[in-house]
Amino acid sequence: MSTSTNFEFSYSFAKSMDEADPLRSFRQKFIFPKVDGKEAIYFCGNSLGLQPKSTQNYIQKELNNWADKAVDGHFHGEDAWYHIRKKSKPALAAIVGAHEHEVVAMNNLTSNLHFLMVSFYQPTDNRFKIITEAGAFPSDMYMLETQVKFRGLNPDEVIIELSPRAGEHTLKTEDIIAAIQEAGDSLALVMMAGLQYYTGQVFDMKAITDAAHQVGAKAGFDLAHAAGNVKLALHDWEVDFATWCSYKYMNSGPGNVSGIFVHERHAERPDLVRFAGWWGHDEGERFKMEKGFKPMYGADGWQLANSNVLALAAHQASLDIFQEAGMDSLRAKSEKLTAYLEFLIQEISGDSGVLEIITPNHKDERGCQLSLLVHKGGKAVFDEFYRNGIVGDWRHPNVIRIAPTPLYNSFMDVYQFAEILKQSLQKFA
Ligand SMILES: *Cc1c(COP(=O)(O)O)cnc(C)c1O
Repeated sequence: MSTSTNFEFSYSFAKSMDEADPLRSFRQKFIFPKVDGKEAIYFCGNSLGLQPKSTQNYIQKELNNWADKAVDGHFHGEDAWYHIRKKSKPALAAIVGAHEHEVVAMNNLTSNLHFLMVSFYQPTDNRFKIITEAGAFPSDMYMLETQVKFRGLNPDEVIIELSPRAGEHTLKTEDIIAAIQEAGDSLALVMMAGLQYYTGQVFDMKAITDAAHQVGAKAGFDLAHAAGNVKLALHDWEVDFATWCSYKYMNSGPGNVSGIFVHERHAERPDLVRFAGWWGHDEGERFKMEKGFKPMYGADGWQLANSNVLALAAHQASLDIFQEAGMDSLRAKSEKLTAYLEFLIQEISGDSGVLEIITPNHKDERGCQLSLLVHKGGKAVFDEFYRNGIVGDWRHPNVIRIAPTPLYNSFMDVYQFAEILKQSLQKFA
């Protein structure tokens, strides 16, 4: 039975939910933007997470280290930059469900997709196809297209894009698996989102990985919208590789550092082709400055360049908050918060056909985001939100994405959104 049967569309109900929320104090750790001088109701954590109040101090500390120690900061003191990558590992491992040696923070997301493809897409004459979801995030599409061309292959012959069934908005797991089985021996790789940015659908990464492995292919996921949003178990699911960004649900600042996951079974594979740099080379011998690349064990062996210390400082500010809250508690709140949003939207739009939620309604098939198709009123419905201090996200041609995040959004935020949605639909739909 759904918990939504107990929900109420009322101020007092929202208030009581907030009072019972064990994570309610975390909201105070973040800085909210203003719309027309008033604190916004912010539902865009799926695009750019809010700034933790502590971020400034974390960055300032590294600025001080740089000022005080300059080049000595690389090796001296307990916070020596030479080892700074290690700091983020416990939190990252907890967030994506991995061992610490399977993850490392480095580069940016699209760069990492390319670097991981170099290692994990190894087309042969017979096995060269790639399965992905249709309508993937553009950077991922451009990445796949150009990786395939880089291997001298034709994207039209290599990339299989999976679309929902006619009249549906999201993919069925059984259809994804059937496509993998059909591609069979010709399939080299499944490379898709873990959580689809447009529809908000979470794919069954374990089932997809199992199916890929059964036909002898590899499975990799772009977790831009999944990391810090839903529970992941990349190690146990035996996913080959994954990458994500830190500026969406992980609140680490615009364009900040990405992270990668490489499964343990690839940890000691010096034979795996890669584009290397000195930071992936055996740490003990790195400063011998000698020829002959010897990769470090695990994900670290994919690092290229020395760590971006200021970026990692901002990342750490947020990761420490995640460690304090814990993914289990975050997810428990998130399921309720999104279910409440869904309940209110249904209360308001009912069977009028004005709004359609295209995100799956089962909690295991979605994160915090709901994507709404606006059938009547168009962008005017959305523009009314902003005039009333709500920051959401409009995607061409008619989708509104609303992402209440469990770290800093409240049930009252969701309630207030619903009041404004009601008003907006009365005016424009
Ligand atoms: C946000 C997002 C990106 C952005 O990539 P950057 O390299 O960080 O600019 C790429 N892919 C997906 C699926 C995303 O959601």
